[in-house]
Amino acid sequence: MGDTWISDLTHFLDDRGQPTTRPGVRRIGNHLGSIVSGLTANPSEKAREIPVSCRRRPKRQACPGRIHASFEPGTLNILWFCPVCDDQGLICNWHNTVWDKGGRVGLPRIDKVTYTYGFTEDIMEDSRFDTIVLNGSAITHELVRVIHDNQVIGAAGVYGDPTAGDPLQVDRLIIEHGGESTSIVVYNRAIMLFVTNEEFFRQVHRVCCVINRPASRV
Ligand SMILES: [Zn+2]
Repeated sequence: MGDTWISDLTHFLDDRGQPTTRPGVRRIGNHLGSIVSGLTANPSEKAREIPVSCRRRPKRQACPGRIHASFEPGTLNILWFCPVCDDQGLICNWHNTVWDKGGRVGLPRIDKVTYTYGFTEDIMEDSRFDTIVLNGSAITHELVRVIHDNQVIGAAGVYGDPTAGDPLQVDRLIIEHGGESTSIVVYNRAIMLFVTNEEFFRQVHRVCCVINRPASRV
């Protein structure tokens, strides 16, 4: 049996998001990054060989295997293994790194996204909010990908602390997908990003940022 590696790809990046040049870490980072690039450049449902050679040297001989990789079902991880020496691992936090070529499998079918946002003094009074409605070709591949990568579908609910800010910041996302609908309300997104370590606020924040770019306004 080979080793099993569990790797967080962000540990192989420097402060600017570039591959680290730290000795001893750089090579393994680039190796894992190549696995991510190979799979996301040409995504497939099933594990398949990607153009990356095994890096192991059992008995001082280079393993002749080629790495096989796949997206782990039900998670955002990438699984990989060498069919010759059984070296294997799992890569997390690879999305949007320099190695991510953007390809995915199992992207949701998004029919419509309604995003309402703004600040209010009174939680019952939302007439001053802005609304962005996206459907048809306005739903870009990037938007579908950010919704998928941040696992907001199925995370319906009300999040955040409505008493934390004055005025209150409100973000409401309604995502219609394949006959179903996910509604997410977040109070005081900016403050919550600061005061909690909850990844969910960051995930919603990333989706809101993609929707709220000037180019996606209709
Ligand atoms: Zn091998």
